[in-house]
Amino acid sequence: MITGNVKRMYASVIVDISAESLDRTFSYSVPDRFKDRCKPGTKVTVPFGKGGRLLTGYVIECSDHTDFDPDRIKDITDIVVEQNASEGRLIELAAFIKERYGSTMNTALKTVLPIKKTYKPKAKKTIILKASEETAVEELAVAVRKKQAGKERLMRELIEEKVLDYHLVTGKLGVSATTVTNLEKAGVISIETENYFRNPIVIKKSVEKNIELNDEQKAIVKEFIEDYDADIRKTYLLHGITGSGKTVTYIKLIEEVVKRGKQVIVLIPEIALTYQTVKRFYHYFGERVSIMNSTLSEGEKYDQCERAKKGEIDVIIGPRSALFTPFERVGLIVMDEEHEHTYKSENVPKYHAREVAEKLAELNHASVVLGSATPSVDTFYRAVNGEYRLWSMYKRAVGGRLAGTSIVDMREELKKGNKSVFSEKLKESIAQKLDRNEQVMLFLNRRGYAGFVSCRSCGIVLRCPHCDVSLSEHRSTGKMVCHYCGYEEKRPSVCPKCGSKYILGFKAGTELIEEEVKKIFPAARTLRMDADTTKKKGSLEHILSEFGDRKADILIGTQMIVKGHDFPDVTLVGIIAADMSLAINDYRAAERTFQLITQAAGRAGRGTKEGETVIQTYQPEHYAIVRAAAQDYRAFYDEEILYRELGGYPPICDILAVLVTSRSRELAENTCTSMAEYIKGVSDKVKVIGPAKAGIGKINDVFRFVFFIKSRDERLLTECKNRLESGIKEMGDLQVFFDLNPMNPY
Ligand code: ADP
Ligand code: ZN
Ligand code: ZN
Repeated sequence: MITGNVKRMYASVIVDISAESLDRTFSYSVPDRFKDRCKPGTKVTVPFGKGGRLLTGYVIECSDHTDFDPDRIKDITDIVVEQNASEGRLIELAAFIKERYGSTMNTALKTVLPIKKTYKPKAKKTIILKASEETAVEELAVAVRKKQAGKERLMRELIEEKVLDYHLVTGKLGVSATTVTNLEKAGVISIETENYFRNPIVIKKSVEKNIELNDEQKAIVKEFIEDYDADIRKTYLLHGITGSGKTVTYIKLIEEVVKRGKQVIVLIPEIALTYQTVKRFYHYFGERVSIMNSTLSEGEKYDQCERAKKGEIDVIIGPRSALFTPFERVGLIVMDEEHEHTYKSENVPKYHAREVAEKLAELNHASVVLGSATPSVDTFYRAVNGEYRLWSMYKRAVGGRLAGTSIVDMREELKKGNKSVFSEKLKESIAQKLDRNEQVMLFLNRRGYAGFVSCRSCGIVLRCPHCDVSLSEHRSTGKMVCHYCGYEEKRPSVCPKCGSKYILGFKAGTELIEEEVKKIFPAARTLRMDADTTKKKGSLEHILSEFGDRKADILIGTQMIVKGHDFPDVTLVGIIAADMSLAINDYRAAERTFQLITQAAGRAGRGTKEGETVIQTYQPEHYAIVRAAAQDYRAFYDEEILYRELGGYPPICDILAVLVTSRSRELAENTCTSMAEYIKGVSDKVKVIGPAKAGIGKINDVFRFVFFIKSRDERLLTECKNRLESGIKEMGDLQVFFDLNPMNPY
């Protein structure tokens, strides 16, 4: 047999997959007969140690070269065929993530693999109302009188539900563990562990369980099931306005898939993962559903993974990391609010959950259902081109009209001499709603950042000495803080440059609006929700429930207030500076503006009362604003896609950002420049933009330079990335980061 010329193949194998031992991989040679089947994720048996004891492990990476002496490397003994190998598939997924987004295999594995450190398994805890309903009502009254908000929320839910998941209560419902313990001591509730839960006191059936699907919903479910049973798997996009019944539809689809013995991953952005949403899923799937989120401790996450692996749960709900739940039989992945930018990871590897979901579905032979009222342009493009199946729902499921909308031109207001942040129209509308005892939401279309400090005499803005950003004032501590590196200094009383005493902090926009509201409507009770007021754990939930309980008339906030919270008494939404997000230097600016305004407008009139939206803007003719006011997604998309085509932006082209950083400004700049030059020579089908200093040119004394590679062929971008990666192995104080189709400007 002539094999002399055939290249040898080597595999690095890990025999104990746990996050701690990822660095301990072992090299083996792959015999010819296994070459075709050996790829990342393949389970193999290998001889181990001096005695050659056989162990099983997973292939992590394959390569045609090895750093060891090829003659002393042992062969892989065998390939193990597994039926339901969640771990093997997750390793394969990690390999995909590494290749597509750029990172080491190690980092990619850490992203996808469940925590392996063994924690003592904790039983699933449940809170059960032990006292009589009468006593419960009394306890509730006490809580209301003493303004014990956490206890109040818990008692209200217990009276309705009788049995609640412990972590749901301490997490999403924002009730402290002390409150729970006190109630247990007082004999009002009991805390039970798993065994009890297994023979459960029946969870009260909710009315939703009996909802009959409307014709649109029925048609969707029917088509999906027909596909599914015909073994057709694909990606569907459910484009439905807020309140059109998307969630009800997902639940039905999930039920059908679970009935067929499969498991389902439901992705919901963390901020929309409210108690109300989770409760709806609990009503359907009881203890077979579990939630994954950032408030869980490592031990709790470990428990969830164990339960998932053992097949004790059918449905997991969580933000993007829920994709990596070690399910053995994934049949469906649902991704609600698919347009949300939090689906893209901000850490290396900067993966996009939608793309990873599709890969995971492919590996599992599963389907994907994406849903949104304002789909991302990327996704809609695929739907329009037939890559995804498009379902549309344009009516609200339970009546209630979309809000009447008016656009106010703020330039005209200024001409009329109105210098306030509120137009006459908005002022009148607020007054009217307050009169009628209805609620108002005021949305400032700008990320809530704390105010910076500047000198009114010489104009200097106080900046972080280590970063290319201004310092933020924290009024409570009298300090100025850098949000990028944590640097702190005392706020000076005079200007360090000119000595003027008129050195002042600029207030965050939401604070200014609140002050203005108080001036004009002194009797109105206000709540403010922004980065500042929601820093503390549970404070976001707290503000929302206060507003929901009508403890305030006006809720003022940034983007946080527009996400999926249902307040039936809100009849007016005021959008203060609708075009603020258009000013950002980012090809996604119009898309984001359209989404935010549409979502904000969707908050009004969710109940039976008629709603109204007032949009204040300096660009009343901009298509993002006009189309959002008309709630016309399709018209927006048609204009936006033209702009993307003209500019060569995603989804027409893909863009790879290459960020080069170093403590040496020179090294970063020179490397970035030579990399960009090198890429220009790779192919005439790639276009290079830059290099340039990044938008924030320095963070924590590390300099940042960036360039962009554009191409219509994404394989070329991967190729460029691979070439750069192989060239940067040993370069001292230098780091290179890749970001495919970045979400934020550089
Ligand atoms: P979305 O997820 O699109 O915002 P939901 O699924 O939350 O919409 O539905 C909005 C409201 O309409 C919910 O209160 C839900 O119970 C109700 N609903 C949805 N579908 C139906 C239906 N077929 N019949 C009656 N009520 C429905
Ligand atoms: Zn000054
Ligand atoms: Zn700093």
